[in-house]
Amino acid sequence: AERKRKVADVIEEVERALSTPTALLRGISDALVAEMERGLRGDIHSQLKMLISYVDNLPTGDEHGLFYALDLGGTNFRVLRVQLAGREKRVAKQQSVEVSIPPHLMVGTSMELFDFIAAALAKFVDTEGDDFHLPEGRQRELGFTFSFPVNQLSISSGTLIKWTKGFSINGTVGEDVVAELSKAMERQGLDMKVSALVNDTVGTLAGGRYVDNDVVAAVILGTGTNAAYVEHANAIPKWTGLLPKSGNMVINTEWGSFKSDKLPLSEYDKAMDFESLNPGEQIYEKMISGMYLGEIVRRILLKLAHDAALFGDVVPPKLEQPFVLRTPDMSAMHHDASHDLKVLGTKLKDIVGVADTSLEVRYITRHICDIVAERGARLAAAGIYGILKKLGRDKVPTDGSTMPRTVVALDGGLYEHYKKFSSCLEATLTDLLGEEASSSLVAKLANDGSGIGAALLAASHSQYA
Ligand code: ADP
Ligand code: MG
Repeated sequence: AERKRKVADVIEEVERALSTPTALLRGISDALVAEMERGLRGDIHSQLKMLISYVDNLPTGDEHGLFYALDLGGTNFRVLRVQLAGREKRVAKQQSVEVSIPPHLMVGTSMELFDFIAAALAKFVDTEGDDFHLPEGRQRELGFTFSFPVNQLSISSGTLIKWTKGFSINGTVGEDVVAELSKAMERQGLDMKVSALVNDTVGTLAGGRYVDNDVVAAVILGTGTNAAYVEHANAIPKWTGLLPKSGNMVINTEWGSFKSDKLPLSEYDKAMDFESLNPGEQIYEKMISGMYLGEIVRRILLKLAHDAALFGDVVPPKLEQPFVLRTPDMSAMHHDASHDLKVLGTKLKDIVGVADTSLEVRYITRHICDIVAERGARLAAAGIYGILKKLGRDKVPTDGSTMPRTVVALDGGLYEHYKKFSSCLEATLTDLLGEEASSSLVAKLANDGSGIGAALLAASHSQYA
């Protein structure tokens, strides 16, 4: 009974610390919009970088030819080629391969990482079949999706601002990542030009626009989280170049670094942040994205084990190990609808090392998954709501005109595979927008849109275009 009371106390405290009432979410989206504006002004104290992408035109559908793309952003990278065939035929042919990045390369040297990538790319180019056509005398071109914050210098160059998401490589910060990749491709004897350097959010936005003209923003919920959207060029005070003809500029918000005292930061978040590779940074990302959700659950379970003997008198040693509980496992436990919570039983045995868990312990574990996932999904929805506010698309126009259809392209393994997360996000967005405004909003899964998007941007920025 004493133990039960302690368990209930800890859970109650966790529920309180991680709660996200709708009014709080509204405050968070307002704070986000304020930071977006500071970032666009170039305020050096702004948390959001609001990076200028140099993409002022999104794909039209008319793109033609063979293009490659390389997507580097997390645990895997993908190489892809497409044969674009214009407005009617669109993507005539597409092939891709995914390669996982050996963990030692994520914390090794820049040269080792880029050599590994270029080698995989060269191998892939070797398998190009006859159904792909490169006109005589032309160089192959590539769109490089690089999902880390970059100070873009042009559409095809940019310097790394910092590594995130578990990458920590000496000597790359401040370097032009296109030059690094190009040198590595040369070392492989691969003749290919990088025609576009894009963030994955920008690639997803481009890929989304190619299939749906009403796409105005893209959000990534994968290992990390980030968003991009189409801004009016004259609403970017820090932009000192010529105003683009289109009047638009795609902005990569780098919203993962958002921080606000409105964010429900718990003791678990603080401890995880403190022990991370980038303490004090990417706070919003650490509350939302796939790299961290399972780890937050682990920390709460550890607290329950310590303070309330959730798993018995001894704290399971495996539970002490950071990041043993991965978000896909958390998701599997959360979705367990069997009467005896069989999946929870298996996962707790395999991951935590506790062979026989009671039904009660399984329920509690699932409940913790629910609390952590719900907070992440609701915070992500508040972010999307903030972008819609910034775009003036958060409410029905008062002048009697109709609400324009608004599409947000979403991608990333977390959004794609964690059903309870994505449905909570969508329900929260509807709640924030209200019935009427939410009826013209579409949240659309843009599966692997960033790869195609980068290839499309390489096409529209081709040296031969
Ligand atoms: P990245 O963000 O690294 O470019 P992805 O978009 O494929 O790659 O996202 C991978 C991330 O998605 C994983 O790190 C994991 O956190 C999350 N994820 C993958 N599968 C699942 C799943 N079944 N349930 C929950 N999260 C998942
Ligand atoms: Mg990705």
